[in-house]
Amino acid sequence: LEAKEEFSHKTLAMDVMRPRRSDPPLSVLTQDGMTVEDVETMITETTYSGFPVVVSHESQRLVGFVLRRDLTISIDNARQRQDGIVCTSRIFFTEYTPPQPPSSPPPLKLRGIMDLSPFTVTDHTAMDIVVDIFRKLGLRQCLITHNGRLLGIITKKDILKHVAQIANRDPDSILFN
Ligand code: ADP
Repeated sequence: LEAKEEFSHKTLAMDVMRPRRSDPPLSVLTQDGMTVEDVETMITETTYSGFPVVVSHESQRLVGFVLRRDLTISIDNARQRQDGIVCTSRIFFTEYTPPQPPSSPPPLKLRGIMDLSPFTVTDHTAMDIVVDIFRKLGLRQCLITHNGRLLGIITKKDILKHVAQIANRDPDSILFN
């Protein structure tokens, strides 16, 4: 069964990426739809090193990637220094910030901390290619898309686990997988 499985299909990015089917959905930021409080909640409720930024939850179009560390530092700095940044301030990763209604607090512009071209592959990419790309480009993470919609993420640690799993199963199969 093991041998048949190995030769009958190649492992694809969709088999390794997170979230798995049973996992909660990917934690993403929207480019203009969140408040400082929303983002702070996401930071405290998760431990991920980074978050993809999408146009909207509906579209799941990828805009960029933000490191948790940079997000935390920027919000803390803004809270301390910038006049008027409060829980209800809207966060913008967009190039332009629409004028805010007079009654609302000033917006927080965070496009500057976003990686505008995070590495992506499609869900059907063979894992041997993904592993190769991680090695050659020294990636920390790679985002997985299908028809331009963001589906998931593979981190360097996911890659290491995947490689170790194959090695455990059959050292020779590394050549094929
Ligand atoms: P590491 O893989 O080094 O532990 P993370 O803490 O960022 O890095 O990720 C932990 C796990 O969660 C990994 O399996 C990764 O694929 C997944 N993951 C990373 N970022 C997110 C995210 N924003 N939403 C959902 N899952 C994520």
